[in-house]
Amino acid sequence: MTNAQTVVSIQNLNYFFGEGELQKQVLSEINLEVKAKEFVILTGPSGSGKSTLLSLIGCLRSVHQGSLKILGQELNGATKEQLVQMRRNFGYITQSSNLLDFLTVQQNIQMSLELQPDFSPKEARAKTAAILEAVGLAQKLDAYPGNLSGGQKQRVAIASALVTRPKLVLADEPTASLDKTAGRNVVALMHRLAKEQSSAVLIVTHDNRILDLADRIVNVEDGKLGLAFNQELSLVLPGFDDALLEKATTKPTLLTYESEEVIVHQGEPASKFYILLEGEVEIFQESPDEPPRLINHLSRGDYFGEVGLLRGGKRTATVRVAKNSEVKVMVIEEELFQLFLGNSELTKADIVRRLHQRVMTSHLSNALPNVDPSQIIAVASQAKAIRYGANSTIVKQGEVADKFYLILEGEAEVFVGDRHNELASSQMKAGEYFGNAQLVDGQKYPFTIRAGANTDIEVMVIDRESFCSLILKSNTNQDVVASVLRHRLMNS
Ligand code: ADP
Ligand code: MG
Repeated sequence: MTNAQTVVSIQNLNYFFGEGELQKQVLSEINLEVKAKEFVILTGPSGSGKSTLLSLIGCLRSVHQGSLKILGQELNGATKEQLVQMRRNFGYITQSSNLLDFLTVQQNIQMSLELQPDFSPKEARAKTAAILEAVGLAQKLDAYPGNLSGGQKQRVAIASALVTRPKLVLADEPTASLDKTAGRNVVALMHRLAKEQSSAVLIVTHDNRILDLADRIVNVEDGKLGLAFNQELSLVLPGFDDALLEKATTKPTLLTYESEEVIVHQGEPASKFYILLEGEVEIFQESPDEPPRLINHLSRGDYFGEVGLLRGGKRTATVRVAKNSEVKVMVIEEELFQLFLGNSELTKADIVRRLHQRVMTSHLSNALPNVDPSQIIAVASQAKAIRYGANSTIVKQGEVADKFYLILEGEAEVFVGDRHNELASSQMKAGEYFGNAQLVDGQKYPFTIRAGANTDIEVMVIDRESFCSLILKSNTNQDVVASVLRHRLMNS
C-alpha cells in the first residue's frame, strides 16, 4: 500500500463562500491523501462541506488557499484549461444519474469515451458493450434512460464514469435516490470495477449499508476532517450504539505505528482494546528458549487486545506492525470496552466467539509449533473445548481412535492394562496431547485416559478429519509430521 501511487494529496486546504462581511469558511485546514486502488468513504452531517470538498477535488471549483495536488499536479493557481484537462482523469457520479434523456444507454456511455482523445468509434463501441456487460445491462444498449429503473440508471452512470478507466472516481451520494438493496448493489459494483482497474474512489454517502466496502472512512464535520469513530465502531461491533460513546468518560483515540513497531507486548498488563483501521499487524507468541512464533495476521476491521482484557489482564501475545506497513488503530480504554460488552448481547457474543477462537489457536499453536499458522487457525477456530469432571473417562483403551485431544487445563491420568488389572502409567498436564498417534491410520487407543482424581479437566477436541488435514495440508516437512506422530505416548 505504501508504494501505491498517490492520486489525491491535499494540504492545509481552506475554502470560503461569499465575500467580505458575508464570507463564510466552509473547509478548514483539510489534509487528505488518497492512493491508487483506495476506496475512501466520506461521511458527515449535511452542510458539513462534503460536496464542496468533492467538487474542489473534481476540479469544478478553484482552490482558494492551501495545496491540492491530483496525480502530482498542483491545482492551486491552475488555469481554467488546466482544470478542464485534469477532469479527463476523473469519473464523476452524482446523486441522480445525469444521463441525457435523448440519447440511448449506449450513446450516453460512448459519449464519455469520445470526450477522450484516443479512441476510434469502433473501440468505443467495443468498450461500451464490455462495460454494460460488466454492470449487467447488456440488454439495455438501445434503451433510453426514461425507460430504466433508478438502480439501472445509476448502473449506467457508473458504467459511463468507469468506462474510461479513470485514475479517480468521485461520487456524491450515488445511492441517495435508490432503495437500500439497489444502493448497496450499485456501490458494490463500483467497488469491484474500481479495484479491477486500480482506480481510486472517493465517495460521499450517508448510507450505512455500504460502509464495510471502504478501505477507510473519513468524517467531515463543520468543514474539518476527522476520524469516523462511530462508523468504524458500528462496522466492527455488531451491537454498537452511538449513545454509549456519550456515556463513557474516556473517548476512543487514534494512534499510528510505523513498520515493525510493537503495539502490544506479551506479558504486559492489558488495559486497552484496539481496532485496526489501516495496515497489517502480525501476532506472535513467545515461549522461553524459543524464537517468537507467528500465530496470526490481522488487517482492517479486525480487533485485538480483548484476550488480555477478558482473560487474566495480561497480554498473551505480542502484536507488531507487519514489515512495510503503516498502521492506524482506534484505541479504546477498558472502561469503554466493558461498556460496549455490557450493553449489547450481539457485541458480547461476537467478541466471546473471537476470544474462543484465539485462545484455541494459541493453545494449539503452542502444542504443535511446527505446523502452519494458517492451518492452525482454521482448525482451532472450529475446535470445541470440553470439560470432564474429576475421574471421568475421556478415551477408553481398545476403542478406535477418532479424535485428537489437547489438555487446556487440569491433569489427566493414563492407564494401561486390562479391565481387571489396570495400571496407572503416567500423568499428563496442560499443553500435552494424546490420540494423535492412533488417528492417522485409525488404530485403537492403547490406553485409557481419565480426568485427574480430584480436579476437572478441560480439553480441546479435534475430530480425525480436521486433525489429518491439519497435518497433511501443512508445509511441514516429513520430519515434522513424523515427530508429531512420534509423540511420547507412542513410546510409553
Ligand atoms: P454537504 O455536502 O456536506 O452537505 P456542502 O459542501 O454542500 O455540504 O455545503 C457546505 C456549506 O457551504 C453549507 O453551509 C452550505 O450552505 C454552504 N454552501 C454550499 N454551496 C454554497 C454556495 N454556492 N454559496 C454559499 N454557500 C454555500
Ligand atoms: Mg452534499
